[in-house]
Amino acid sequence: MHEAVRERALGLPGYPAYIYDLPGLAAHAARIRAALPGTEIFYAAKANPDAEILRALAPHMDGVEVSSGGELTHVRETLPGVRIAFGGPGKTNQELALAQRLGVERIHVESPRELSRLPGPAAVLLRANLPLSTPNAALTMSGPFGMDEVDLDECARRIAGTPGIDLRGIHVHLASGLDAPAMLDLAARICDWALPWLEDNDVSDPELNIGGGMAVDYGDPDARFDWETYGKGLPTAPTLRIEPGRALTAYHGWYVTDVLDVKTTRGETYVILRGGTHHLRTPVTKGHDQPFEALTSNGPERRATLVGQLCTPKDVFARDVLVPDLAPGDIIAFAMAGAYAWNISHHDFLMHPKPAFHYLR
Ligand SMILES: *Cc1c(COP(=O)(O)O)cnc(C)c1O
Repeated sequence: MHEAVRERALGLPGYPAYIYDLPGLAAHAARIRAALPGTEIFYAAKANPDAEILRALAPHMDGVEVSSGGELTHVRETLPGVRIAFGGPGKTNQELALAQRLGVERIHVESPRELSRLPGPAAVLLRANLPLSTPNAALTMSGPFGMDEVDLDECARRIAGTPGIDLRGIHVHLASGLDAPAMLDLAARICDWALPWLEDNDVSDPELNIGGGMAVDYGDPDARFDWETYGKGLPTAPTLRIEPGRALTAYHGWYVTDVLDVKTTRGETYVILRGGTHHLRTPVTKGHDQPFEALTSNGPERRATLVGQLCTPKDVFARDVLVPDLAPGDIIAFAMAGAYAWNISHHDFLMHPKPAFHYLR
């Protein structure tokens, strides 16, 4: 943890709280930008749509990918001129109309039926659900995402006969949690299928959006996706675009809180923290121990389970981990809480106070 984050975490007026390191985030995004010359980077807003985070990332991104009318409205308000791609299954007619009104640059069409519901002129990428294996992925996007070849062909045929609908390319997001070599292997296989398909369908200057999903290792907070290797190995396409989320913002958020109680029951020691996984759902949803630092104590280590205030045995940040000798009032900072953390959490469960948000600038 950087000294500036530690200092801020120790001096907060109250706990729990989130701290976002905006200069650190901007520097991280700048490094990624530099590693991928010629590739467009759209930030997947669903990872963390916090307005300050969007503004910190914007100078280093080519655009933002949104997955709902809510995200779309928010991103358009926060970053008025930014290029936006609108994806996600189950777009409503209202959302498609909103996309047109707010000047969305690309619609990622998920089905032939969705194509037929576009309310007017649109530049589209067709989302492909290609049968490409992704061993070692943390999450495969199998399910209702994208289309098989037969539906892609059907969409291309219909677009050719529909003035105002412009087929710009293909969108593919098949898995998340892949390291750089696995991502490159997948990118090459996507290109091998998509570029000939786009040529067959007379798409000039085609665009290929190969998605996000760059690996984030919660077991090793210092590890980073190898963006340099990834940038060097990417296939060439007239326009190649990626849309990472987690690997951009995970590292620059902390959830900081204090110890309320420490007790041993039935042989297990529990450290009970103010707040809980209704503020930081990431360890529950991913099934991992959230990495943390004890900021005020470095005594002898012992095993304990870090839990929150919720009345459910699922409210566990980290199970049976080594901790210093903790007492009420000690401060714990959970790292890697900048993506899929606050915004995926069930805030209202038990009606505890919500955390404050603090920003290093
Ligand atoms: C969630 C999502 C992303 C971002 O994935 P990360 O794992 O956060 O990088 C990108 N594209 C699509 C279509 C998504 O659904």
